[in-house]
Amino acid sequence: MKRDLYETLGVARNADEKELKSAFRKLAMKYHPDRNPGDQEAEKSFKEINQAYETLKDPQKRAAYDRYGHAAFEQGGMGAGNGFAGGSAGGFSDIFEDIFGEMMGGGRQRRSSGGRERGADLRYNMEITLEEAYSGKTAQIRVPTSVTCDVCTGSGAKPGTSPKTCATCQGSGRIRAAQGFFSIERTCPTCGGRGQTITDPCTKCHGQGRVTEERTLSVNIPTGIEDGTRIRLSGEGEAGLRGGPPGDLYIFLSVRPHEFYQRDGADLYCSVPISMTTATLGGKFDVTTLDGTKSRVTVPEGTQAGKQFRLKGKGMPVLRSNQTGDLYIQIQIETPQKLTKRQRELLQEFEQISSKENNPQSTGFFSRMKDFFDTLSE
Ligand SMILES: [Zn+2]
Ligand SMILES: [Zn+2]
Repeated sequence: MKRDLYETLGVARNADEKELKSAFRKLAMKYHPDRNPGDQEAEKSFKEINQAYETLKDPQKRAAYDRYGHAAFEQGGMGAGNGFAGGSAGGFSDIFEDIFGEMMGGGRQRRSSGGRERGADLRYNMEITLEEAYSGKTAQIRVPTSVTCDVCTGSGAKPGTSPKTCATCQGSGRIRAAQGFFSIERTCPTCGGRGQTITDPCTKCHGQGRVTEERTLSVNIPTGIEDGTRIRLSGEGEAGLRGGPPGDLYIFLSVRPHEFYQRDGADLYCSVPISMTTATLGGKFDVTTLDGTKSRVTVPEGTQAGKQFRLKGKGMPVLRSNQTGDLYIQIQIETPQKLTKRQRELLQEFEQISSKENNPQSTGFFSRMKDFFDTLSE
């Protein structure tokens, strides 16, 4: 005669989920085989406790049990012939994860039933030009990834056959070994943690349940995107193992340094060298901006090196807004080199007739500097 399940756990018939779990936990600790080595009675109790909890924690099974008693789970009953001990392949180990995982401080990787595993996240490095960041684009990328095998639909077993529960770990995917008071759990070496072994592997994926394929994905690069941006494509990572959910694909975006423009947020900087004579006499030049159009810059007479001109709205678009940064033109003055005799004569003559008004900064600079320090030392 089988014992009443509520009695086995020592709880009232109206016990809630929490009370069930707590009662199970206490008893499981007490009768755990690791704590009662060689004790047949304890082992039997431990099994009963597990079976009782397995049934009562499932609202549907519990309702059936309340109504029909143990008969609900006999052959032909609602348990579909599973009886007690079997349950789902993962059911038993799930309890262990719940209870003992918590006990050991958690942190252990959760494994859902049947060895299902979430696919790995993938990283894809993409480099775009500053022009592409300016205008945005749709990029087609080819990603080598593993996808669920279509022949075995991910089971890894040859069509018509099915994976068998691993004999070493009885489907839990883990084996336990006593080490003093504690017991150490490790991945089952026979099935590699799957809880199942495949005797007749699928010929396409060799039992892996997934195959490597190249997929083409369309990625939308929004205008104004910044260097170092990470774009997540949810569910586009590697296929899960044995029907687990896929991972995500992360695109790490970098913007290639530009030949002429440096970017600082939404603003652009461009260093433009002009000749000494243009800087002195004034002039004009055109810059081609990132939208492909030309902008004219007027250089007034007597422009100094380092002078900055702002072209409003000619910078980068700001991500997800209709604002645009500015473009700053920074003036460099190129000193003439490799002068001819004639050029040298002209410049020497120019020098001779130059006045303080022509060069207010450099004229007398060193005597002003000397005076400054002499005054300090007095
Ligand atoms: Zn396959
Ligand atoms: Zn195993």
